[in-house]
Amino acid sequence: MAKWQAYGAKNMNAKKDFPILKRRINGKEIAYLDNAATTQKPKCVLDAMDDYYTMHNANIHRGIYKISEEATEMYEKAHENAGRFVDAGFQEMVFTRNTTESINLVAYSLLPEFQKGDEIVLSRMEHHSNLVPWQHVAKMSGARLKYIELLEDGSIDMESAKKAISRKTKLVSIAHMSNVLGTINDAREIGRIAHSNGAMIMVDGAQSVPHFQISVKKLDCDFLAFSAHKMLGPTGIGCLYGKKEILEGMRPFLYGGEMIREVSYESAKFNELPWKFEAGTQNIAGAIGFDRAIGYLRSIGMDNIRDHGKMILAYATRRLSEIEGLRIIGNSRHKGSIISFDFRGIPPHDMAAILDAEGICIRAGHHCAMPLMKYLGVNGTSRASFYIYNTKEDADRIANGIEKGRKLFKV
Ligand code: PMP
Repeated sequence: MAKWQAYGAKNMNAKKDFPILKRRINGKEIAYLDNAATTQKPKCVLDAMDDYYTMHNANIHRGIYKISEEATEMYEKAHENAGRFVDAGFQEMVFTRNTTESINLVAYSLLPEFQKGDEIVLSRMEHHSNLVPWQHVAKMSGARLKYIELLEDGSIDMESAKKAISRKTKLVSIAHMSNVLGTINDAREIGRIAHSNGAMIMVDGAQSVPHFQISVKKLDCDFLAFSAHKMLGPTGIGCLYGKKEILEGMRPFLYGGEMIREVSYESAKFNELPWKFEAGTQNIAGAIGFDRAIGYLRSIGMDNIRDHGKMILAYATRRLSEIEGLRIIGNSRHKGSIISFDFRGIPPHDMAAILDAEGICIRAGHHCAMPLMKYLGVNGTSRASFYIYNTKEDADRIANGIEKGRKLFKV
């Protein structure tokens, strides 16, 4: 039996762990297919946060009393496990609010390093989070933005990458996995090209970290950003990995309490890593919930999660491809379980409403990638994105829902 099949049986149980998936919408069981936007939370994650507030609530790093010591220990354990999850050292993992804040942290901290003549290289498939902060840096510093082109199948054109990255490049920042096309980019190779030109590489791991095992050491990236809420954790907590020697040399992003070692009326000495980048009271409950989510993912195994994603992607792609008039946008060989599509005669928002009536949750619109929509020549797409609790039945339901929509719209 193939590995994913063995896991498939296990996956049937995964749904049971997610209270929200027991809800019925319009009298129908939920088929939650908007995982690229955010994932659902298992009961153990909800319980972990509840337990912190019920039994251990205190501020961290300050109190010389039992519950504060417990809270500090829980928070620091979350830090350690988040780092370990991507093969990073304790001092290299900073908690932020989300991927967006992680990218902003790097952009704002490095802003004074950029000047006219410098170039920042992005790809055409970037999420606004990995685009707008760099537009700001370019505007403030006089640096220039350059874009790596895409191939027909929605993958990165490596020839274009080699052309775009040069000795003028200071930083390359790319999505590891596209939230629209599903494409998994060869971040290691792009990083190698960046490094050989003396540039840094930042990887937007918002979609990739939840889906397969990542080692920052193997990727050899300088920065990696991701969000807990896309991997079964709570909203409001995210991660920034940075190489220790780079983080050490960077200015803080936010200034205030907690991020200092010593303060006078005139100046301040900053705290050691990672606390230098964590100003103010942190999202302690969020970190604890995230730690539990990491534990849950580990108990399934990231290789099983990747294989399950491959299985669902292959099955759903086949089912949707059979529908006349439906065009899948993004057909790279290296793809995660995200399917964007266009359906002749039914605009994406109508499609989402039709499917909602069937209890199926999908996304419609520009998916925070307006320039990419323009590049692809569409106003928006419908998008189904899968995760560990989704089954073949969910893929069948969306296929049947679209067929029902076709009859309704008489197309
Ligand atoms: N990058 C990508 C590729 C994403 O898919 C997302 C979320 N849709 C983000 C960045 C931003 O993540 P967050 O909203 O959690 O900051």
